[in-house]
Order: sequence, then structure tokens, then C-alpha cells
Amino acid sequence: MGQIQEQTLARSVTYRGIGLHTGVEITVRVSPAEPGTGIVFCRTDLPNQPLIEAKVVNITSTLRCTTIGLNEQVQVKTIEHLMAAFVGLNIDNARVELDNGEVPVTDGSSAVWVQLFKEAGLIEQERPRKVGVLQEPLWVEEGSARLIALPAENLQVSYLFTSENQLVGNQFVEIVVNPDNFTDQIAAARTLAFAKEVEYLRKQGLALGGNLEIAVVIDSDRYLNPLRYVDEVARHKALDLIGDLGLVGPLKAHIIGMRSGHSLNAQLGAKLNAAVKWC
Ligand SMILES: [Zn+2]
Repeated sequence: MGQIQEQTLARSVTYRGIGLHTGVEITVRVSPAEPGTGIVFCRTDLPNQPLIEAKVVNITSTLRCTTIGLNEQVQVKTIEHLMAAFVGLNIDNARVELDNGEVPVTDGSSAVWVQLFKEAGLIEQERPRKVGVLQEPLWVEEGSARLIALPAENLQVSYLFTSENQLVGNQFVEIVVNPDNFTDQIAAARTLAFAKEVEYLRKQGLALGGNLEIAVVIDSDRYLNPLRYVDEVARHKALDLIGDLGLVGPLKAHIIGMRSGHSLNAQLGAKLNAAVKWC
């Protein structure tokens, strides 16, 4: 097999929208970047326009979303759905400029990013893609949540979501992550929210940008909005996992997840970061 080259966008794309947690309107510009750059975030609203590399070592919080940063001031929240789109479409290099500290929530999934990036088109670059190859199984656990990584020929994700809620129930999804599968099976999946929880978060000043369209919303025994997939919740958990592991880089590993969230994803990311061999 021939070498696979790194890819970037053929041109810049811009999106303006609300941050889920900050509730403010933010403009994001995603631009092509040089080979070997990786994904780099830039806070254009701060002095000297600081850069934050999308890397595991820069994770500063995993509370309700994944945040990367350099210090208290220089942070970007809710990077996971955008990161998942980069991973899903095999985009290695990009510069993400934001005029505030959060990636807009768009429609609660990765679909908007995937569409924008496909419209812009991708170009191959003069540098072979290095992929992190896992050689030994490894895992992390926290209570009843588990993430297991096994050596594999490509990136695969199997995810088990469990719920006491009769309607949501237990959901299982399995995917080989490539651009077609990601676009068709994962990109449009939104997260689960309970109507009560949405109200509570609003009172806490969190999830200010949240509304009925950006999540699968449940009120005790019924969905308040139409589903995009019958097992949308599990698919969104896989999306988050793919995005969070994007902070390691392109991977060859089969990730098996049960009941995990951003905190455990970050722990697995750190372990993978230390364990994979770049080839
Ligand atoms: Zn998510």
C-alpha cells in the first residue's frame, strides 16, 4: 500500500453561532494549515492571539464538555464535536480561530462541520500521515464506566450506552471510523438531555445556548423532539469519544466503551498518547 498523505481544507470556512455553556455568540473560522501543524485553536479576541494545540496535554477540564487551554484565561470549551469532524473526515491540519472561549454548539452534533468541510473540499499535502498504532491492549475505568483499547488495523469504536429510562434503554453502536461511515452513521447524532435537567442547567447559568433542537430531549416517558437515529444517544457518545481521542491524533485501535464520558475519554487519551507507536 502506498503512503497516505496528510490533508487539510482547500479553503477557509466560517460559522457564527451560540456557545452551549457560555451562551454568547461566537464566530469561528477554520482555515487550511501547513503540513505537520495538527489542529490548532487561536483565541483572536485575546492579547497576542494565543494558540492552543489540540493535544491531550492541554486538556484543562472535562466537566460536561472537553476544554483545552494554556492557563485560566486562555481556554476553549466544547471542542469535541468539531474535533470529531476532523477525525471523521481525516483532516490532519487546520487552524481554528475563535473570538471567544467556546466552539459554537451548532445543531448539537458534528453535522454542520462535516457539511462545511465537505463544501470547502480537502487537499492532500506533501507529508505522509503518521498514525498512532496501539500494540498492547489497555484500559481505564471509573465506577461502572469502562474504556478498553485493543490493537486493530484501523480506528473502530464500539459503544454501549445504558439507561434506567425505559424509553432510551440500552443502546449499542459499532463503527469503523472512515469519512463515509462517520458522515452517515455518527455525524448527525445529538446528545441526550432530560427536560428537568435542561431547566436546572439554565438556572445554574450553564447550557445557556441549549434549546430543544440541539439535543434528544426526554420528559420522563416521551421524546420531546424527533430522533435522527433510533439509537441516537449511543451514536452521540461514540461521536464524543471519537472527538476526544482526536486529541491524541489519528489512531489504529479498536475502542470499546461502556457508560464513559469526557473525563474517562481524557484518561484513555492520556494512556494512548503514552502507549502508541507513531508509524
Ligand atoms: Zn457531545
